[in-house]
Amino acid sequence: MNCYLCGSSHTSRLFSNHNFDYYKCFNCQLYQIYPLPSNKDLNTFYLGEYKMSIGKHRDNLKIWQRIMNLIELFKKPCSLLEIGCSYGGLLVEVRKRGWKVCGIELSQEAAAYANKKGLNVSCKSLERSIFFKNKKRFDVILSWHVLEHYLNPIKEIRNISGLLKKNGMFIFSSPNANSLEAKLLGKFWGWFDAPAHLFLFSKRNIKYLLAKADLKLVKIITRRGYSMGIIVQFFYIPVTLVGYFLRKIISFKKNKKNKKIEKFVNEQKEIGFLYPLYNFIIKFLTIIQWPFDLLTLPLRKFYYSLGYGPELIIIAEKIKK
Ligand SMILES: [Zn+2]
Repeated sequence: MNCYLCGSSHTSRLFSNHNFDYYKCFNCQLYQIYPLPSNKDLNTFYLGEYKMSIGKHRDNLKIWQRIMNLIELFKKPCSLLEIGCSYGGLLVEVRKRGWKVCGIELSQEAAAYANKKGLNVSCKSLERSIFFKNKKRFDVILSWHVLEHYLNPIKEIRNISGLLKKNGMFIFSSPNANSLEAKLLGKFWGWFDAPAHLFLFSKRNIKYLLAKADLKLVKIITRRGYSMGIIVQFFYIPVTLVGYFLRKIISFKKNKKNKKIEKFVNEQKEIGFLYPLYNFIIKFLTIIQWPFDLLTLPLRKFYYSLGYGPELIIIAEKIKK
């Protein structure tokens, strides 16, 4: 297969997760699922399996404040759109700082919750949203961990760019496929999350993506972000393996369906009774990781500064009208 982003044929299959194959491009370092699932399959997946979690609660407040401090280094309060705004937690904070805010969110439950808080959130895809139809232009567009979910990120980023004023900024985050976590954990890295994460970018290829949409890279940083951390993920490997074998047994027993997504969604439902235990293990590991996190803080800050942190934050500027 040829690389989605740079077109190079120098690609190779690395591993498979949840029955989906991840390929790596050795020219631009893009990771992608191939073949990609269909739009219909993805809808089945998101309705049946994906749980909204980020953004409803205030525990992300510190992260959001840091994000806004960063944005306000580049722009004074003006108009802002968040794509994938979830329950509107970040938008509420941004609005308090004097910004005029709008949002887009596909989950009906989350969008309704955000609108109840007096936010202007459209529950449609970008192309079908009122902002797109009315050709509204924004000073800043934010998109947090969304780009890796799109079937066609080039098309989506061009649409986003079309909604920006000249010199407007697109600020987004995405998992860093070139992070130390990804390198150490390989297929067990939490963000090789098929079929939710279809493309995984890194510092090297993000410029290619931006260039396709008249966007210029202003700054790129890596940080811990929403990652669970290395220790939790290492201890999580046996849990993943147990889940893997349980799914094998279940699909051996009853699942004769060939469709990958339906198979995966059904398997997840079958082992759904284990979720409380799973959540307990994650909480427990997060607590025991705390002293380790503190001790390794200087080391982590160092490799984050070199570009090996698990999350990328990209600040890009629209260069054409
Ligand atoms: Zn490539």
